[in-house]
Amino acid sequence: MAGSVQGNTIDFDTARLQVAQPRRRRAPSQTPRTLDSIRQHLVSLLQTSLEMERLLGIFFQEIQQACHVDALTYQNGPAELRVELGQRASHSASYRLTHESQYLGELILRRQQRFDEAELERLETLIGALLFPLRNALLYRDALRSALRDGLTGTGNRVALDKALEREVSMAKRHQQPLSALMVDLDYFKKLNDTWGHQVGDEALRSVADSLKNSLRNIDMVFRYGGEEFFILLTNTNRQDALMVAERVRRQIAELQFRINGDNIALSASVGCAALLNHENGNDLIQRADQALYQAKRNGRNQVCMAS
Ligand code: GH3
Ligand code: MG
Ligand code: MG
Repeated sequence: MAGSVQGNTIDFDTARLQVAQPRRRRAPSQTPRTLDSIRQHLVSLLQTSLEMERLLGIFFQEIQQACHVDALTYQNGPAELRVELGQRASHSASYRLTHESQYLGELILRRQQRFDEAELERLETLIGALLFPLRNALLYRDALRSALRDGLTGTGNRVALDKALEREVSMAKRHQQPLSALMVDLDYFKKLNDTWGHQVGDEALRSVADSLKNSLRNIDMVFRYGGEEFFILLTNTNRQDALMVAERVRRQIAELQFRINGDNIALSASVGCAALLNHENGNDLIQRADQALYQAKRNGRNQVCMAS
C-alpha cells in the first residue's frame, strides 16, 4: 500500500490548552486516565535530561505505551540537528513544532500501518509534553555552542581551539595522517582602526572571518586566536596542500571588496603555515605557525611563509 503523510502544526501554547481541555471528550471506556498517566510519567522522565538525543529517545520509548510507532525523525535545519530513531516505515504523521513564533523543529512519526484519528489525538497530547523540554534542550545546546564561539566573528574561540587541537593532533597521530595549521594576521590593522574607527575595524574582522569560512572545507576549524589573528586547522592536509590553501586564503583576503560609505578599504593578511612533525604537540604546531607568520611580516607582509 502506498505511504501517506499527515501534516500538522503543534504550537506550545495550543498544546498546553489541548492537554487541559481535550478537543473531543472521550467515553470512559477509552481510558483518558491511562493517557493522562502516560503523559504525567513522560513529563517527569523528560525533566531528567537537557540532551536532545536522550530526550527524543525517552519520548520515542514512552509513546509506545499510547500508540505503536516504528520510527521517529526529528529535524531542525537552523539548529543543524537531525535525529532518527527506529525503523523507517511508509506511513507518517508530521508535526511542525513551534513556541510562540519560535520554530522548534519538525517531528515525523512513522509506521507500517496508517495512524487513525484517535491514535493521532493521543500522540498529539504526548507531543504537547515534549515541547517545553525540547525548547529547553535547544536553548541549552545554543548556550553550549556559543560558549565555544567568538562573539564578534562567529568563529571558534580559544576554548574551542584547545579542544579541537588536542583532538586533531591525537587523531592525526593515531591514523598517521598529516595535519597542518595556518596563522593569519591582518596587516597594518591598527592603522585601519585609527583611520576609520573601531567599528569599521570590527566590520572588517567579520568580513574576513566570513571569507575564511567560505573558502574552507571545514568551517568549524577557523578560530579567532587574538584581536586580528585567526588560526586555521587543516585536517588530513600535508605541507604542499596547506601551502596552496594558505595562498588561497591570502589572495581571498587581498581581493575582499570591503566597502564603507562607497570607499573601498584595502585589506591584506600575512600567513604563517606549518605542518605537524612527528614529535610535536599542538602547542608546538601553533608556535611554528606563529614564527612563520612573523617571517612573512618581516618579508614585507601580504604573503605566505612556510615553517621549516
Ligand atoms: P601588523 O601588520 O604588524 O600585524 O600590524 P598591525 O597594526 O595589524 O598589528 P598590531 O599588533 O600593532 O595591532 C593590532 C591591532 O588590531 C590593534 C587593535 O587596534 C586591533 N584590534 C585588535 N582586536 C580588535 C577588535 O576586536 N576590533 C578592532 N576593531 N580592532 C582590533
Ligand atoms: Mg596585524
Ligand atoms: Mg596581531
